[in-house]
Amino acid sequence: MHPPHEAPRVVLKASKVRAFATQHPWVLDASIDHVIGGPADGDEVDLVTDKGKFVARGIYNGRSRIRVRLYSWNRREPIDDDFWRRRLESALALRRRIGYDDPQGACRLVFSEGDGLSGLIVDRYADWLTIQVTALAVQKRLAVVVPILAELVRPRGILVRTERTMARSEGMEVRDGPYWGEPPAGRIRVVDGGLRDEIDLAEGQKTGLYLDQRENRRAAARYFRDQRVLDGFCYHGGFSLTAAMGGARECLGIDSSQKAIEEAKAAAARNGLANVRFETGDAFERLQALVAQGQHFGGVVLDPPKFARTRKNLDEALRAYHWLNRLGMALVEPGGILVTCSCSGLVTRDDFFHVLLGAAQQARRRVQVLEQRGAAPDHPVAVHCPETEYLKCFICRVE
Ligand code: SAH
Repeated sequence: MHPPHEAPRVVLKASKVRAFATQHPWVLDASIDHVIGGPADGDEVDLVTDKGKFVARGIYNGRSRIRVRLYSWNRREPIDDDFWRRRLESALALRRRIGYDDPQGACRLVFSEGDGLSGLIVDRYADWLTIQVTALAVQKRLAVVVPILAELVRPRGILVRTERTMARSEGMEVRDGPYWGEPPAGRIRVVDGGLRDEIDLAEGQKTGLYLDQRENRRAAARYFRDQRVLDGFCYHGGFSLTAAMGGARECLGIDSSQKAIEEAKAAAARNGLANVRFETGDAFERLQALVAQGQHFGGVVLDPPKFARTRKNLDEALRAYHWLNRLGMALVEPGGILVTCSCSGLVTRDDFFHVLLGAAQQARRRVQVLEQRGAAPDHPVAVHCPETEYLKCFICRVE
């Protein structure tokens, strides 16, 4: 029995209680013994042990395999408006602390579990915010979260996007579009890592730019001075343009998206970088053709899309990374630099190391890892949620 004012309770299986000591924010359906109090989807619930002891507080969703998303491990902390305000303030304070607060800039203001806000991603592009909703818990609280963000950040407008796959797994309706303030009248200008770019928030991939690679582009550029650089999956040309800005001799960017290549060309012109070429094409095919021509580069960047989407296709994904890195190594001149990335969360750093070892063996090259990098610090990794560490970026010398 519990008093009626108490939140409904989700009772863990006895065998699963210990696993929750690490404060991982996801309670999968398989961990749950039973539910008391009939919570509706989006309701606040208390997670308790099989003995009835409080573990954490979260938000329930009977339609998702992640049955409860946990937000607080403090019994006295309700998930009310003040809660969202405190967490958002803390996330914003981090960005200020790391100097990611250029008013013309772009930055991830909230990174879901990385900021203790499972299901909420907020990016800032100059005067606009885009919210990516990845959990029903957050979708149901947009009316609380958006005005707080508007007050704390004072943007001109806030747009909401829902990722289709997450909408399906969370049982969410997709309600995308301008949510607060003015909708952007056209393309938005931002300065990202010193590069002037423009994005179309309505159509861009993801929420505009790949903000997670910002520091890696600069780190890579340090090795590319006076070099010829090949940028395998270039999107708007982030790596190649940063390299050119840093003194690379010439750069070639390849992307399969025609639109991305048009944007990359426009960005090169906008930033006055003449020694960068961009081509539409399949990177695997183009790299293979360059190998066949006997071409070599002082620097090669491989930043492919997420190959491993599910555990089932992990092996296939690892083979794709292997093949890609083998091609990449073959294209690096002796003593040159390979910057190789994987944004598949399912591929661990160790897995990626093994991919590089296998590729090095087959390419018959000696490979030294100079830097093992991750996402920029506006994508914080929560030690409680290993899934927040998804991006690997290794800078290697290939002899
Ligand atoms: N390096 C970029 C981000 C790359 S994201 C940056 O720093 O901003 C991955 C890119 O790979 C996307 O732009 C996508 O269009 C492209 N892509 C996907 N499959 C591809 C393929 N087979 N060949 C070339 N590009 C591909």
